Amino acid sequence: MDRESSSTVAGQGRAIPVTVIPGDGVGPEIVRSAMRIIEAAGVPIAWEEAEAGAEVFRRGDSSGVPQATRESIERTRVVLKGPLETPVGFGEKSANVTLRKLFETYANVRPARELPGVPTRYSGEGVDMIIVRENVEDLYAGIAHMETPDVAQGLKIITRKGSEKIIRYAFELARREGRAKVTCATKANIMKLTEGLFKHVFEEMAPEYPEIRAEHLIIDNVAHQMAKEPSQFDVVVTTNLNGDIISDLASGLVGGLGFASSGNYGDGIAIFEAVHGSAPKYAGKDVINPTALILSSVMMLRHLGQGAAAAAIEDAVLFTLEEGLAVTQDLARQTGGDVEHAASTTGFTDQVIANLGRQATTIPVRAHVTDDTIAPRPEWSYGPERYAAMSRSLVGADVMVESDLAVDDLGADLARLAGEAFRLSMLESRGTKVYQPTGLSGDGVRWFRGRFVAAEDGREPSEADLVDLLGRIAARHRWTEVLRLQSFESEPGYTKAQGE
Ligand code: NAD
Repeated sequence: MDRESSSTVAGQGRAIPVTVIPGDGVGPEIVRSAMRIIEAAGVPIAWEEAEAGAEVFRRGDSSGVPQATRESIERTRVVLKGPLETPVGFGEKSANVTLRKLFETYANVRPARELPGVPTRYSGEGVDMIIVRENVEDLYAGIAHMETPDVAQGLKIITRKGSEKIIRYAFELARREGRAKVTCATKANIMKLTEGLFKHVFEEMAPEYPEIRAEHLIIDNVAHQMAKEPSQFDVVVTTNLNGDIISDLASGLVGGLGFASSGNYGDGIAIFEAVHGSAPKYAGKDVINPTALILSSVMMLRHLGQGAAAAAIEDAVLFTLEEGLAVTQDLARQTGGDVEHAASTTGFTDQVIANLGRQATTIPVRAHVTDDTIAPRPEWSYGPERYAAMSRSLVGADVMVESDLAVDDLGADLARLAGEAFRLSMLESRGTKVYQPTGLSGDGVRWFRGRFVAAEDGREPSEADLVDLLGRIAARHRWTEVLRLQSFESEPGYTKAQGE
């Protein structure tokens, strides 16, 4: 690909700058396919080619995303990218996650809609949903520790602000696309504070969108319902890990990875990519299905306000699939077709270009609104005044301890170390209470949490009390972590252990 190839068409005005990252494996082939189609559709784009992924890691850049690429994205604010590999042994973080975090693309949007010519067990049911996944927080914040040589812990971070942003995004998307329903999918019944906060914010915001039906379903039920009757879903909004899993499930319902497109949206920035990876075994063979990236580039064109070209390209893709003259290997395999004589990546692309101007008749393109800006949040402050006005108190501390003592001995010792300001209210292991004596053992994981609460009701322990407590415990035990027990506006900001 040329370094700055411009597809400006004479008389169509200034070309729109877009950063294009060909990526690894099959990336360059599918990116080339989408670029050719966009050029053939006459959209004036000034491509800035940039690098990220495997080669960059191998050169010793542990982020996988070089400075020149970051600068290009800062300039263009729009990226079309191929899949990126994180080679084993080079850096720990995936370049994909780095890109999402660097540019705070908080909304991962993945449509899953029945396609003509792509038969599935749900064909004819009208599956047409969009999964809106929070893309920055949750267990993907990447904060994890070995608490002992054999106990790993990862932190699930959910914030009110992060939840508000993604939930507003989902409702606004539903509103502008004329969607009837937004389903919030969480595990709030178990993770009461984290997933519960997300659900709570959803319920707070839903009344701002009275014309849209708002429902909450537990994520496991969503998985069950999606397999059973996927056409009931419209827009689904969810936290990062839930979304990762159910958006793949949703792709599987409508034909699989070869067809799954996505956009990662931040404030004034967006990255468009296929859901699939670099499929290294097919790299350079001209056999991969480029539909997923082509449909991602259609999302990009809508983001750029190029609605007519987006619809023309989507029409041509749907027509090509419906017509069935160019069938890629993956689809031929799924449908029991002729894999040996399947269409190549370039052959499929040529066919889409030849079909520009044609429309599928069985499943036409859905009407879209091209303006995907988000209405600003109504006045809401995250400034210091919100927190200054909030009452809070320190009510105790949880102290994690690595220990080989029998639970009753450990419990008795920690109870003794509680001192005057605190009392040990319980000892638990992996969330289940084992002391005051319960007869349970903690199943020998050697890692416990002692919960220390104020010795007398109503007397708030001081900071010095807390530090002293930790000092006493440290002198006799191997402590691994301390967590403050706080209450906010008299509501406990912590959960109880099973059996507490
Ligand atoms: P993958 O998606 O690359 O491939 C899995 C299999 O799915 C392939 O072998 C192929 O059979 C099929 N497949 C995927 N896309 C297809 C297409 N367009 N047409 C036809 N068949 C297709 O997943 P993987 O093998 O787990 O990952 C390979 C590499 O890609 C890894 O390094 C991984 O980290 C990376 N990856 C990157 C991204 C991204 O950049 N967003 C996403 C996923 C994986």
